[in-house]
Amino acid sequence: MQNIRDISSLCDIKAAACMALSDAVWDLAELRYQEHGAVAAQVALLEKEGFRITRDIAGIPTAFMAEAGHDSGGGNGPLIGLLGEYDALSGLGQASGVTERRSTTQANGQGCGHNLLGAGAMLAAIAVKDYLAQHRLPGRVRYYGCPAEEGGSGKTFMARAGLFADLDAAVTWHPGSFFGVMSVNSLANIQAYFRFSGRAAHAASAPHLGRSALDAVELMNVGVNYMREHMPSNTRVHYAITDTGGISPNVVQARAEVLYLVRGPSVALANTLFERVKKIAEGAALMTETQAFVDFDKACSEVLPNMALEWAMHRNIEQLGPVQFDDADRAFAERMRRDALTPEDVFSSLRSVGEPTTYDRPLHEGILPFDGTPRQLYGSTDVGDVSWLTPTVQCWAPCFAVGTPGHSWQLVAQGKQPAAHKAMLQAAKAMAATAIDAFSDEALLKSAREEWEQRTAGAPYSCPIPPLVELPFERKNKPGILLGAGTSPFTAAPLSRSRPA
Ligand SMILES: [Zn+2]
Repeated sequence: MQNIRDISSLCDIKAAACMALSDAVWDLAELRYQEHGAVAAQVALLEKEGFRITRDIAGIPTAFMAEAGHDSGGGNGPLIGLLGEYDALSGLGQASGVTERRSTTQANGQGCGHNLLGAGAMLAAIAVKDYLAQHRLPGRVRYYGCPAEEGGSGKTFMARAGLFADLDAAVTWHPGSFFGVMSVNSLANIQAYFRFSGRAAHAASAPHLGRSALDAVELMNVGVNYMREHMPSNTRVHYAITDTGGISPNVVQARAEVLYLVRGPSVALANTLFERVKKIAEGAALMTETQAFVDFDKACSEVLPNMALEWAMHRNIEQLGPVQFDDADRAFAERMRRDALTPEDVFSSLRSVGEPTTYDRPLHEGILPFDGTPRQLYGSTDVGDVSWLTPTVQCWAPCFAVGTPGHSWQLVAQGKQPAAHKAMLQAAKAMAATAIDAFSDEALLKSAREEWEQRTAGAPYSCPIPPLVELPFERKNKPGILLGAGTSPFTAAPLSRSRPA
């Protein structure tokens, strides 16, 4: 109890600076791998706090580490990591503090609350650093600035480069609508571009000479949609047509591109499904006499829960108690619910965390029950890859009105509200207290490690992104790997300057 009071007040002291930082990152709203402003702001504050900074980690200009603390003489104190994010989503520019869709000059928006995620994890790291110094505890705390969680799997590329493996444990959180341990089984995923190359022709005077890449994309999608009935129910496939090949219907489209995202409860199961999707692409190429290329974009692993750390975090959350909102917070959330959320939004949000669906407060003012059973999360997070490299624990905190959908303008509009700041501070306290437990309770770290070894036994981490896949911002206009024989009777129109051998 003493610990939690100490760590709470250390968080309170540094809270204002981190709330301002969160708001600044909300304003920047930078997309994946372009988060230069957010990184500069985070690094500036961490340097002021005395952290040692390592920039450009894993070859990524917007990934960094900040470390504080010391090992004791010859003995090695623990090394605990805190994971932060900062990237935004495209198309979600939205005015703050209103309950209607109101665009701004800003094209992008913090639709997943990563402005809060990064600032909250940083606040925890700073408080842990101060606690270690005050109590002369050996050990180091390391904050990771992780880019591109949205569609970029920044942490997975960082994991591939060998990061996270030297940690004794990792701690993080995600802004949401509820307060509690985030004990989940998430889905692994694989994302890849499928590009088709055909032959252009005048669509009316010489249609027999054309071979349509757009037809191939459409047939591929039809094939995948027929596959849906024969997929395990806990898998998912999504796609977006990213290049239709042109806007002139009287030209046969010589190139077209579709981006596929395949999910499964494990990397192996996602891979099995991905291989089937590749076969369908090959079939579409065969039917249309085009060539199909696959270009692997990114992937991430499923999360491995850690009950030892989750119970420790749950105990801290119970000691902290629910987030203390005031009437103004409740009134704004109530307006958001009335103006912009449907009863179905609220119902499905409550059901997703197992709360009574009759819960009628606009903000979560309780604590999610925890019984040591992870819930199924039908989404993915690159925290999964960290959890395969070190025992990892996460919590949710109620930054947004109950029922606020993820990746929505409603969420963006609430990202700078006092309620979001309060929940961020409470999450920082829960994370910092759990990190301090890891520093001061040897038995906890030991049982977390033993559990992690059991869960990974026989299947050590293998990065789901193959070694040859380049970082997304380094790729140079290559079509990808040719699937099958490439049956075009014509010389297919080159997709780009460089063709595969
Ligand atoms: Zn997110």
